[in-house]
Amino acid sequence: MIDTHIHGDARTGEDFSKMYLSGIDIAVTCAYYPYKIDNDSILLNHLMRILNYDTKRAEEQGLELKVALGIHPTNTNVNGEIIFENLYKWIENKDIIAIGEIGLENLTEDEYRIFKKQLDIAEETKSNVIIHTPRRNKSEVLNKILEILPQHISPELVVIDHINQAVIEQVISTDYTLGLTVQPKKMDKTEAISILDEYGFDKFLLNSDISNMPSDPLSVPKTIRELKKLGFNQKEIDKVSQKNAENFFKI
Ligand SMILES: [Zn+2]
Repeated sequence: MIDTHIHGDARTGEDFSKMYLSGIDIAVTCAYYPYKIDNDSILLNHLMRILNYDTKRAEEQGLELKVALGIHPTNTNVNGEIIFENLYKWIENKDIIAIGEIGLENLTEDEYRIFKKQLDIAEETKSNVIIHTPRRNKSEVLNKILEILPQHISPELVVIDHINQAVIEQVISTDYTLGLTVQPKKMDKTEAISILDEYGFDKFLLNSDISNMPSDPLSVPKTIRELKKLGFNQKEIDKVSQKNAENFFKI
């Protein structure tokens, strides 16, 4: 089982252990620093910590962390050049499997500048991107993202994350992969399952997005077990449990 979007740096070894024992083999851990950073080298240190430290902490509990690094929209109060240089290096060394999470939140000039630059790096290096959509103004911000993407990147490289019932119609007919985040205050497993039931299993990845905010490290296994209990076809369940993530991230 794969949890396709977490913030491992904000979680404990006990969480990693529970996730592993509940059947999660791999989690994709993404960059996000929850406090304002206006200094590039502090942001770089946060990213290096994820790459070199949190991966080891999880591994000790049996959980393999694959890494996505980049500048989250919350952290766009920086110049960014040092991070962009390092992204090229991490991609070349195969240290990371995606640039992420990136995206837009409050639609500031800095957010647009840094988002577009990272999309260009991804397209140039044929790297995947994990794109965040916010809790507030989700539909409006998603529309801006959908305007920008075709000018910068090929759809097969993109997962648009935190999609829910309210915005599914804006993206279901696009070629992007879509992320469903099952988390308290975002979306419960019943809503995720009703989306899968209505739109099919082919386009979706499942994740918990566990972070420093209240979140459930077991939301992916709980959703998978519920799908099984409800009698969904095992081949379909396997797609959102593992196969779609393996194909998208090439892992
Ligand atoms: Zn996240």
